[in-house]
Amino acid sequence: MKRRGLLQGGTLVLLLGAAQIARGATIVAVRIWPAPDYSRVTIESDAQLSSRQIVVTSPPRLAVDIDGIDLNPALRELVAKVQADDPYIAGIRVGQFAPGVVRLVIDLKQQALPQVFTLAPIAAYQHRLVLDLHPMQPADPLEQLIAQRMRESTGGGPGAPDPLGELIARQYDPPRSRHDLPPAVAGPAAPAAKTDRLIIIALDPGHGGEDPGAIGPGGTREKDVVLQVAHRLRDRINAASINGNPMRAFLTRDGDFFVPLHVRVQKARRVQADLFVSLHADAFITPTARGASVFALSHSGASSSAARWMADKENRADLVGGVNVKSQDQHVAHALLDMSTTAQINDSMRLGGALLGEIGNVGRLHKRQVEQAGFAVLKAPDIPSVLVETAFISNPEEEAKLRSDEYQEQLADALMRGISRYFAANPPLARNRPV
Ligand SMILES: [Zn+2]
Repeated sequence: MKRRGLLQGGTLVLLLGAAQIARGATIVAVRIWPAPDYSRVTIESDAQLSSRQIVVTSPPRLAVDIDGIDLNPALRELVAKVQADDPYIAGIRVGQFAPGVVRLVIDLKQQALPQVFTLAPIAAYQHRLVLDLHPMQPADPLEQLIAQRMRESTGGGPGAPDPLGELIARQYDPPRSRHDLPPAVAGPAAPAAKTDRLIIIALDPGHGGEDPGAIGPGGTREKDVVLQVAHRLRDRINAASINGNPMRAFLTRDGDFFVPLHVRVQKARRVQADLFVSLHADAFITPTARGASVFALSHSGASSSAARWMADKENRADLVGGVNVKSQDQHVAHALLDMSTTAQINDSMRLGGALLGEIGNVGRLHKRQVEQAGFAVLKAPDIPSVLVETAFISNPEEEAKLRSDEYQEQLADALMRGISRYFAANPPLARNRPV
């Protein structure tokens, strides 16, 4: 690989034109992240790749010509990495289209909206070329809740109370565009409710897909353990009620794929969540850091430099996970994220306090007070929102605990008790919302 030798030769690189540099690109890894929300193909290389795309509707497929590379074994791996249950990708073909041009053809199971973009090197990644395949009609979180309920609805019978059905009947309003916000108020007052209001808790397992989150010394990935804890907490929430009001958990991510921070907020607002709990397990530079912390949003500045550091770190998730900064969604996101309210922060501080108190009963606390900083994911203006750092995955002892069924169960129990405690002091019905 003579050219590659040249490229690594320092000053010589500066003498080469951009096209020649790209020509020397080597593919270092390929990954596919299938998910109901969207499927992603990532091609990682040691230099930025340029590409052109062609969408063919019949049969649906996406062809992408990548310049400056030759077909290599890493690229051929893509073909075998397609999973049978990928919602969008039926198969991938790769071929040397012309000298220095590789053509990738993604055969689709349904028409999809492709987004092709590049990401600059960050964290452990070199240059990435990302091919996202979105559904023509974006998935609606409310529909997901319905589908989930359909799967679970066994017993009950036609006459049984159906709180979720009522919620849907009153609030369901199909999205007109992908930027739709949840309806502010449900339509005209429904006839006297026969059942209580459904309490919805948005659980937000951090990171996912391209973004592993923090990685422990034993190789445990934050994105995996927080999803496991979210599943355990979901089971508890779905079996619980508050003052006779049934509860239901909604996961902003239920699989190993990346969800941009503003999309997590939008999803929670779409289902009109009563609470938003983001789950994390972070790392620090020293392995001795330990204990759980809980964070809320701040109006002005962070409550400590450590809190600011943590917020900056979590807010970088979009860079690692990979969002298309040219997509229109990003502009909407920024407009949305500046509407935080004092009431939301006050409620979030109460929720955080209740959770911290309960977590302190099963594990060690890093800080006894709820800390505050500008976490992007906590900015739903109308939903009390907290971010729980369950433990330091960088601490070998805590990493082992986080992996264990026993501690995950204890943690889920503690979080459930904290949520109940919050509602005991701040009854959900006191909030001015449709039944
Ligand atoms: Zn995290």
